Amino acid sequence: MTRHIRIAGGGVSGLATAVLLAREGFAVEVWDRHRGGGGRFAGGWQVLENGTSTTDALEELRAMGLTPDIPVIPAVKALFLDGFGRRYEIGSATPFAYFVRRGGGEGSLDAWLRRLAASAGVVLHQGVPAPPETDVVATGPRQADGVAREIVFGSDLPDTVAVLFDPAVTPTGYAYLFCIGGHATFGVAQVRRVERLREAQQEAWHRFREALGEFAVRGEHEGGQFMNFCLPRHLRGSDGRWYAGEAAGVQDFLYGLGNRLALRSAGLVAAGIAGRWDHAQFVRTLLRPMRATVALRFAYERVGRHGFAGFCRLASRGDFRSLLLRLQRPGAVKAAVAAAVIAAWRERDGCRHAPVCSWCRRRER
Ligand SMILES: Cc1cc2nc3c(=O)[nH]c(=O)nc-3n(C[C@H](O)[C@H](O)[C@H](O)COP(=O)(O)OP(=O)(O)OC[C@H]3O[C@@H](n4cnc5c(N)ncnc54)[C@H](O)[C@@H]3O)c2cc1C
Repeated sequence: MTRHIRIAGGGVSGLATAVLLAREGFAVEVWDRHRGGGGRFAGGWQVLENGTSTTDALEELRAMGLTPDIPVIPAVKALFLDGFGRRYEIGSATPFAYFVRRGGGEGSLDAWLRRLAASAGVVLHQGVPAPPETDVVATGPRQADGVAREIVFGSDLPDTVAVLFDPAVTPTGYAYLFCIGGHATFGVAQVRRVERLREAQQEAWHRFREALGEFAVRGEHEGGQFMNFCLPRHLRGSDGRWYAGEAAGVQDFLYGLGNRLALRSAGLVAAGIAGRWDHAQFVRTLLRPMRATVALRFAYERVGRHGFAGFCRLASRGDFRSLLLRLQRPGAVKAAVAAAVIAAWRERDGCRHAPVCSWCRRRER
C-alpha cells in the first residue's frame, strides 16, 4: 500500500525531502503558507557554500539524486573589507560557494525544487498553512537565535561579491553586498546585539558606498528574518515527527549558512522515513560539521578588529576555498572547544526548542 507523507513547509528542506520520498514511491503532499513559492525570501542572492567539504556541493546534490541543473553562479573571487578601511582581493581555483537566487522567481533554488517536486508527482498546496499533524516539519526557524536584514535591489554595479568584517559595525556578525547581472543583495547578519541591527545596516551601507563608489539603487525591497541554530540529537523528535532544515536547528553557527545543511538533512530524513536511518551518517555529515562551527563561532566573537584583519590578510594570500576547508574541518580540538562552549552557553532554565534541540545558546535578556 502506498504510504502517504505530509510535509509542513515548501522551502529548501521540505521540497527536497518531498522529491526524494516521492521518487521512492511515497504519496507526498507539501503545504507552504506562502503562495508562489520561495516562502520567506524575496529574490535575493544566497550562497550554497562550498568550503566545508572537499566534495563539491553540486556533486553532493548529484549523489543525492538531485540533478544539480539549478542556475548557480560559481563564486571564485571576492572583496573583503576590514575594520580599518583596508581592501583584500580574495580568490580560489575552485568555487568557494555557488550563488543561488532565493524566492519564488524563475531561476531560483526554490523554483528548481518546485520543478523537481512537480515532476516527481508531489502535491503542493500553496498559500495554505500546514495542518497540525504532518509527518515532517520543515517550516524554517522556530526561534530567533540571530537576525538578518536584507535589501534586494537593481543596480548598475559590476558583478561584485563584497563582505565587511568589522565587529565595531556588526558585532557578532558581518555584512555583505552581492551584485550579479545587475541584481543586488545587501544584508547584515548578527547573532547577538541585534537591537542595533538598523544602525549596523546603515553603517555597513556607508562602508560599501565608500569602498565601491556611487551605484544606482532601483526598486529596493527590504526584509528581515530570524535565524535558528541548535544541535539536533536526531532528526526525529520525541513527538514522532521528522524535522528538517532550520526547523531542526540545522544551520552553521559561524555564518548562518543553512542551505547545504538543509538539503543534507532532507536526504537523512527521507532515508529515515523510508526505514534506512543512518545515525553514523547523521553524526558525520551533519552533527560533526555543525559542532565544529560552534567552536568557530566562539572564536569569531572574540577575535576583534585586528583578528578579522588578520583573517582577511590570510584569505587574500592563498586559495580561499583551501583556507575554508582547513578552518572548518571538524576535529578533536574543535569538538573539545565546542563541548566547553556548549556547557558555558547552555540555557540555565532548560531548552525551549523541544522536541529536537539538545542545546540552545543562552540569550541576552
Ligand atoms: C536573510 C538570510 C540570508 C541567508 N543567506 C544564506 C546564504 O547565503 N547561504 C545559506 O546557506 N543560507 C543562508 N541563509 C539560511 C537559509 O536561508 C536557511 O538555512 C534555509 O533556507 C533553511 O531551509 P528550510 O527548508 O529550513 O527553510 P526555508 O527555506 O525558509 O523554508 C521554510 C518554508 O516553510 C514555510 N512555512 C513556514 N511556516 C509554515 C506553516 N505553518 N505552514 C506551511 N508553511 C510554512 C515558509 O513559507 C517557507 O517556504 C540565510 C537566511 C537568511 C534569513
